[in-house]
Amino acid sequence: MKPPMGEDNGWWWQQAAEGHLAIQRCTSCSTLRHPPRPMCGDCHSLDWDHVVSSGRGTLDSFTILHHPQFPGFDYPLIIVLVQLEEGTRFTSQLVNCSPESVEFGMPVELVMHEDPDGFRLPMFQPAKGASA
Ligand SMILES: [Zn+2]
Repeated sequence: MKPPMGEDNGWWWQQAAEGHLAIQRCTSCSTLRHPPRPMCGDCHSLDWDHVVSSGRGTLDSFTILHHPQFPGFDYPLIIVLVQLEEGTRFTSQLVNCSPESVEFGMPVELVMHEDPDGFRLPMFQPAKGASA
């Protein structure tokens, strides 16, 4: 499954392809936003750049999906909402973690998942050596 890429988010997937988790930033008021969109929700500015996330964050919320919805994924899937240390939230998938050991607030870190065809998708895993 490949996500749709358009004018608003093509740059973001380009960043992912280079191994970066990018976060769009309004250049008028510095508000971070994700997913990418043309206009700032706070000040309605159309001017933006982006920052590259450290990839560190904590688990804000999660959902465990047991039933296949997309071919090619291993189930159950752990879908997570990560609170990034930059201050914005990112929906992703938690890997290298059993569903039983997922906890709210656990520290997580970015891991770049790479498909056999080289397509990269940012995912998260439990942070190594983090003091929770
Ligand atoms: Zn703004």
